[in-house]
Parts: sequence; structure tokens; C-alpha cells
Amino acid sequence: MSEWDCDVAVVGVGGAGSAALYHAAKRGARAIGVDPNPPGHDRGSSHGDTRIIRLAYMEAPGYVPLLRRAFELWGALERESGRRLYTQTGLLQIGPADCHVLAGARRSAEEHGLELEQLDAAEVGRRFPPFRMQPGERAVFDPRAGFLAVEDGVRTHVAEAQRLGAELRQVGAVRWEVAGEGARVHLTDGTALRARRLILAPGGWAPTLLADLELPLTLLRKVLVWVPCADDAYLAERFPVFLCDSGAGVFYGFPRRGADPELKLAEHSGGAALAHPEALERGLLPGDAEPVLAYLARSLPGLERRVLRHAVCFYTQTPDEHFVLGAHPRHPQVALVAGLSGHGYKFAPVLGEVLAELALDGATRHEVGFLSPTRFA
Ligand SMILES: Cc1cc2nc3c(=O)[nH]c(=O)nc-3n(C[C@H](O)[C@H](O)[C@H](O)COP(=O)(O)OP(=O)(O)OC[C@H]3O[C@@H](n4cnc5c(N)ncnc54)[C@H](O)[C@@H]3O)c2cc1C
Repeated sequence: MSEWDCDVAVVGVGGAGSAALYHAAKRGARAIGVDPNPPGHDRGSSHGDTRIIRLAYMEAPGYVPLLRRAFELWGALERESGRRLYTQTGLLQIGPADCHVLAGARRSAEEHGLELEQLDAAEVGRRFPPFRMQPGERAVFDPRAGFLAVEDGVRTHVAEAQRLGAELRQVGAVRWEVAGEGARVHLTDGTALRARRLILAPGGWAPTLLADLELPLTLLRKVLVWVPCADDAYLAERFPVFLCDSGAGVFYGFPRRGADPELKLAEHSGGAALAHPEALERGLLPGDAEPVLAYLARSLPGLERRVLRHAVCFYTQTPDEHFVLGAHPRHPQVALVAGLSGHGYKFAPVLGEVLAELALDGATRHEVGFLSPTRFA
């Protein structure tokens, strides 16, 4: 009998881990994923129907090659699974002329030769009548952007991984340790998993499972709200995803999905600090919805300012808001991802590909040095 239970163990099968499990299995590795929660659950950071995907990336131009690959891989996953995960709508970004939301997108577009339309208020009014621009605001339109079905994306990665021979165990990891050239993962059911290579993708639980790295991670509580909307002007065929620096905060939202008479919005800025994922308050607290409803009154006045339903989620932030992705600095048999800082889901398939390459080849073809786990040391 082999010394190992598997070639690759993946701890945390959420947004990033489900993709790592899939890519490890696709490479022919015997892969086992462990997670105490079922695929597509609402206890972590990968739930709430949809996530924005965009290309002219305001956070930093270095993400653009990863995004190009992410778009390819989402397309490949859709073809393989026969499921629709991505809806192209374009992204309208609005803000004061010099704000980061516009300047960051322009910088990525210039550096990478991306299409990014510059729109004035008249053009926005003609193409997207529900938006009311404020004096001094400018807009850009990223035509490649759209939204992803988030829970469905996690479930599809897991289902396709299982079709390729991967195994998923619904059990938590208590801790892990190096074992010879591999690793041993101790599980909450009292058993242990011996793996040649280990991938850690624990999302907001990274401070526990990656405690040895002392990463400066903090959690932020985030609230999503859905408001009533039966107007066809907001359907995805004619209404884009949007991201707006209003001065009071950065807000974003989605078009109506299918025939559902509702529209989802949230604030990207702000959020209360959270000590631990299990401490998350999931009810709607006083003050949770007001900033978003005030944004609606200002910029989308045709919508009713009433919360139909809500969801609560959290971001796992790094100080520079860039991801932590790479090999463990002391244990090359361990690859890890953490601190996706509220913008990681769109990258899930390329994160999975990077993690599988690091685990199976000891290196990745992708340029991820700027996300190194050692940069805070
Ligand atoms: C409200 C909100 C809006 C967002 N909007 C966008 C957006 O528009 N576009 C975008 O790209 N990104 C967005 N993000 C960010 C993105 O959703 C996250 O960065 C990403 O989904 C996080 O994935 P993850 O795999 O790191 O974490 P998770 O998906 O939370 O996965 C971590 C997994 O680890 C598991 N786990 C925990 N403890 C253990 C243990 N002991 N053993 C085994 N497994 C364990 C958990 O059960 C979980 O399944 C948003 C996030 C939020 C909260």
C-alpha cells in the first residue's frame, strides 16, 4: 500500500479550493478535497448568487494576464459542464474624473491595450437610461465584463473534479504538518490524510490554518441587498453590471437575472471588522442597508428603496488588498491562497490552475510574484 492517501489534498473547497481540486484532477492527480461545508454553502465568502468579472482591472495591471486566463478557463468549464456560469453585460464604472475606480481601469487598459470606452453623461443616459450621473462625474465601459454565478461555479468545479476522479470529504481540517516530502492533515473526525502535496485554500479561516505564516489578514463583514425591480430596462440584455465611486463610498450592482423581479446591490467600501467567520452576524442590522439605499436615491432614482432580501458575507483583507498566492515559504510541498480581499472570485479557475501547478510541478507558468506570501515579512 502506498505511503500516501492521495497525490494532492485540498483543504477548503470554496471559491478557490473547488477550482484547485478540479485542476489537480484534470492534471491526472489523485485529489481529495476536505471541507466541513457542502459545495456552494453560505458560511464563507462565495455565496449571494453572483460575482462581477471584469478585465480593465482597477486594482493593478498585473492582474490582467491572470484575468485573460480566467476568462478562458471559465469558458472551458462552461463547455465541459454544459452549464452557463458567465453572462457578458459589460461594466459601467462611474466616479469623479480622477477617482481610483476610473484611473485604475484606464491604467490597466493602457498597459494591456484593452478596449475601454470613455462615456460622458449624455452617452450614459442614451445607452443606460436608468443611471443619473452627477455633475463632474465621468464613466468608462469595460465591454468584456459581466457576472458569474457564484454558488453554481463552486458546485460545477467540484462536480467536474469528481467526474475526473477527485474525491470530496465533508469534514474539517484541524491542523496540518509536514510529513517527509509530503504532508499530513488531521481531520475533525479523528482521522488523518497523508498527501504527497497539500493545497490550502481556507478563505476566512486562514488565520487558523495558516497561523505559522502570521499573515496580516483581517475580516470585514459585508451585506448584499436585493431591491424590487420588475422593469425590463434593468434586464441583463440591456443593463450592465456597475461600480461607482459616489464620494460616500464605492457601490456596485447587477442587472436583473432572468425573469426575477429584483436587483442586487452592495457597498464595496466600508464594512465592520469581524473577529472570526463563526462570529458573523447574519441578520440585517440597523444601518446595514442605508448607504446602498442612499446610493440608489442618488444614482438610480427609478428603483424602489426597499430591501426584499439580504445576504451577509465577509472579505478576507490583506493590508495592500492584493491576494496571497504561492508556495509555502518553508515547505515547498504546500501551496496556498488566502486574503482574496473582496475581489478574488472571478480569478477562481486561474487560482486553481496556479495552485495545481505549484503542487504538481513545483512552479507555475503564471506571473504571480507580486502576490507572494512573503511580501509582508
Ligand atoms: C459580498 C461579497 C461580494 C464580492 N464580490 C465580488 C465580485 O463581484 N467579484 C469577485 O471577483 N469577487 C468578489 N468577492 C470576493 C470573492 O467572493 C472571494 O474573494 C472569494 O469567493 C473567496 O474564495 P475563498 O476560496 O478564498 O473562500 P471561501 O469560498 O469562503 O472558501 C473557504 C473554504 O474553506 C472552508 N474551510 C474553513 N475551515 C476549514 C477547515 N478547518 N477545514 C477545511 N475547510 C475549511 C470553508 O468551509 C470554505 O468552503 C466578493 C465577496 C463578498 C463577501
